[in-house]
Amino acid sequence: MPTTARSAPSAGPSPAPGAGVRRGPDHTPRDHDRPDVLTLEEVLARDPGDVRVLTGDRPTGPLHVGHLFGTLAMRVALQRHGVETFVVVADYQVVTDRDDAGDLPATVREVVLDQLAAGLDPETTTVFVHSDVPAVHQLMLPFLSLVSVAELDRNPTVKAELAASGRGLSALLLTYPVHQAADILSVRGTLVPVGRDQLPHLELTRTIVRRFDRRYGPVLTEPSALLSQAPLVLGTDGAKMSKSRGNAIELRADADATAAAVRGARTDAGRTITYDPAGRPEVSNLLLLGALASGRTPQALADEMADGGAAALKAYVTDALVAHLAPLRARRAELARDPFVVRDVLTRGAARAAQEADATLADVRRAMRQTS
Ligand code: ATP
Ligand code: MG
Repeated sequence: MPTTARSAPSAGPSPAPGAGVRRGPDHTPRDHDRPDVLTLEEVLARDPGDVRVLTGDRPTGPLHVGHLFGTLAMRVALQRHGVETFVVVADYQVVTDRDDAGDLPATVREVVLDQLAAGLDPETTTVFVHSDVPAVHQLMLPFLSLVSVAELDRNPTVKAELAASGRGLSALLLTYPVHQAADILSVRGTLVPVGRDQLPHLELTRTIVRRFDRRYGPVLTEPSALLSQAPLVLGTDGAKMSKSRGNAIELRADADATAAAVRGARTDAGRTITYDPAGRPEVSNLLLLGALASGRTPQALADEMADGGAAALKAYVTDALVAHLAPLRARRAELARDPFVVRDVLTRGAARAAQEADATLADVRRAMRQTS
């Protein structure tokens, strides 16, 4: 990975704060003491009006059980709690690690069907596609001026994604965490439900807010991350379950495909089943999936499975997943029969997100004294 001697842009002395800036949904004057990682319980104990969620998925393939347990279930819980939620389908981000985005409209449709089937309600949640909202991308430019190449170079998730891509580092891959900051801040997101891989990006977003604040005034709010009970679901090969790695258990699959994927999942040579995420990550991941799908704890499941071996564990996990996913899959099949449902959701989502992003961009440019 290339390195550079450029240092972090200095926070520098601040000009006078921009006059008449619009406040985000959280009205505290400074949010620097906001905890950076929250749990769902902590958020559900708060007034839903205190937070606004922004989260998203890349349309690189259909969503998988890592998404469901890692982030989708939480999005639905927040939505039910009354938290205003924005979900971006990040189509411009598909080419961070590949040349060919494939049939992007078709993949966007698959992802949105998965989101809706998992319980996102387009009446209350705004689902939009990146490329429909130009102001998001314009916001990236001032934000790029607030971070150094050296900082971007250190991002561990970008490093891992670079290695997995087997390609050279593109400037888009290097800078996509800044793009993500633009996604979050464009709609004034204050809470971002994520898998663990996204935490470095959240930290960068917070850094951007602090630097912007010091240079130009208090326009933006630092977001917190919301980590789930399954922040890193492993795939069938023992690495992070990812759409792009061919190691996923897809939400849209049928029972046979689910069984085949679980059967092929890597385990270890240990004869008994124990829950030991650090020492036995693959077996523990299967226990976690089985437990989440059946409303139990991984430890309780391990105790029950103790002498059964991997085959019995896999049979349990398959049955639990198939039963847990059945309503989602039925809903998805129903939604997929309507040729207009996704288009209508995204048209409405684009209008709502653009309204927010245009206003944020105007506030940012005013604070920077680029407009009067
Ligand atoms: P890709 O391989 O194309 O990057 P992905 O499977 O990593 O796809 P993303 O669209 O990049 O999926 O991620 C969407 C959201 O889902 C992010 O918040 C991410 O942290 C979360 N997520 C993705 N994979 C997992 C996983 N295996 N476990 C928990 N959360 C996950
Ligand atoms: Mg990813």
